[in-house]
Amino acid sequence: MKIIFSPECIKYNSSGHPESPERVKNTYEYLKNMKSEQPFAPTNMYCKHIQFVEPESASDKDILLVHSQGLLNAVKTGSFFDMDTPALPNIFDYAKLSAGAAIKAAEFAIQGETAFSLMRPPGHHAGKNSVAGFCYFNNIAIAIKKINAPRSAILDIDCHHGNGTEEIFLGDKKVLYVSLHQSPLYPGTGLLSQDNCINYPLSAGTDEKEYLSTLEKAIIQIKEFAPETVGVSAGFDTYKGDPITNLNLEIGSYEKIGALIRGLDMPCFGILEGGYSTDMAQCVYSFLKGLE
Ligand SMILES: [Zn+2]
Repeated sequence: MKIIFSPECIKYNSSGHPESPERVKNTYEYLKNMKSEQPFAPTNMYCKHIQFVEPESASDKDILLVHSQGLLNAVKTGSFFDMDTPALPNIFDYAKLSAGAAIKAAEFAIQGETAFSLMRPPGHHAGKNSVAGFCYFNNIAIAIKKINAPRSAILDIDCHHGNGTEEIFLGDKKVLYVSLHQSPLYPGTGLLSQDNCINYPLSAGTDEKEYLSTLEKAIIQIKEFAPETVGVSAGFDTYKGDPITNLNLEIGSYEKIGALIRGLDMPCFGILEGGYSTDMAQCVYSFLKGLE
């Protein structure tokens, strides 16, 4: 299991913003400690197989596979406005490194090695022409376009609907997009399925049992599509302790989610999206354990 991570991604901050550097920093340190401490403890055996890999930035050409020249220029020059998605100093550099990490994770997957991009900013709300919801460039969309497989699936398990990803791929016969998300909730989309985009809106309070039975249906649909690669928009804001959402998953639920995805027996990579609770590190670890 390759974890794509660069300490660069924890260098930007917007005071009081839930998408904080600590969430990724703590997760990185948690995984690193699990790997190095008590290597023979049964729970840590898995972590010995983790290898951290540094990403390279996505090029302008990579970003233009998905986004308009107008959005690329706006992020480059900081000339955009969104309440949730501030034009922070050097945000272009952070956003293109996060997109590059997603590409690297996808490239590992097609070589047969499961990989996870532990980077920020997240991406699934960014549309062709717009930043939104803490997202500047759509990392998973860029990675899927870059590897250009005849058929790819995107499974979005963030608590929010990936409206940017849906907008980018709607009608694209090479890509199946499947999302499980809380509704009603920001951004208010994903209520219905259409064409190649399948949506499972879930009510507030949905617990592990109901969540997993819905995920099983999604997994069957992915299997039927028979993609060469599966990219997972992995958000951990479905956790019961998340401060900005209302689903009720446990830490151990993520291992079961990971195992269901592994059961597809297809090349697979994950990309960090949301997750704002102080237990996010354990949720990520649980997910990776299931996925491996
Ligand atoms: Zn989210």
